[in-house]
Amino acid sequence: MPELPEVETVVRSLAPHVTGRRILNAEFNQPRVLRGDAEATTRMLVGKKIESVGRYGKFIVFTLRPAGFLIVHLGMTGKLLWNGAPEKHTHAIFTLDRGTLLYNDSRQFGRIEAARELPEGVQKLGPDALAVSLDDFTDFLRKRKSRLKAVLLDQTFVRGLGNIYVDEALFRAGVHPMTIGATLRKDRVKKLYDAMREVLNEAIERRGSSISDYVDSDGTRGSFQALHRVYRRTGEPCLTCGRAIERTLVAQRGTHYCPKCQKR
Ligand SMILES: [Zn+2]
Repeated sequence: MPELPEVETVVRSLAPHVTGRRILNAEFNQPRVLRGDAEATTRMLVGKKIESVGRYGKFIVFTLRPAGFLIVHLGMTGKLLWNGAPEKHTHAIFTLDRGTLLYNDSRQFGRIEAARELPEGVQKLGPDALAVSLDDFTDFLRKRKSRLKAVLLDQTFVRGLGNIYVDEALFRAGVHPMTIGATLRKDRVKKLYDAMREVLNEAIERRGSSISDYVDSDGTRGSFQALHRVYRRTGEPCLTCGRAIERTLVAQRGTHYCPKCQKR
């Protein structure tokens, strides 16, 4: 599933293509990935100019002129592809005054929505994982009585993290995923905060992790998956201490960690 670094990479690869372009047509063929009525969505989009494209947590937000937003969540297998050829998994086609943007999604867990205002579900998210201050991160964490793995996945705590980067950040910070958020000592909170920023920034530099079929809008794969230290390395030796990486379930999510390096 694309997380903050993958979505950021898609946005950065899209921006030079779509910024300033006008939407000439928008076609949708799969109600599952479209929130709202297809015809009404097309009417809302046609004629609008794309002022900018940005990332909001794991959402891709196109700001339109004179008004409105086009919001895309890639779900698990969603892709926004620039000037590709439509295929059987193409569920939306945006024809611009220069070029075409396709939305492909084989598993159809993604969502597209056109709206006058940013939807409530987007607005109520917490601060971005790369923008939140250490003070706010510390304050918010103090109020959380659930396990760190679940806290960090919660988009109303900070937005943008998913399974991969939570596991990787916890490993780098030396913190066990089952630790209760509110009990983490201040110095370890700072370690976790720094580890989160570090892993996200390194992953953006590597254009994200291509775990299944993730690619950016130009079809390029990311390379950060080769640098994962715990995620999907179950049974392989820890790169720090040599102990086998373990997998457990926390908040119903597969969680990878080193039982020696990560302490409660
Ligand atoms: Zn270890």
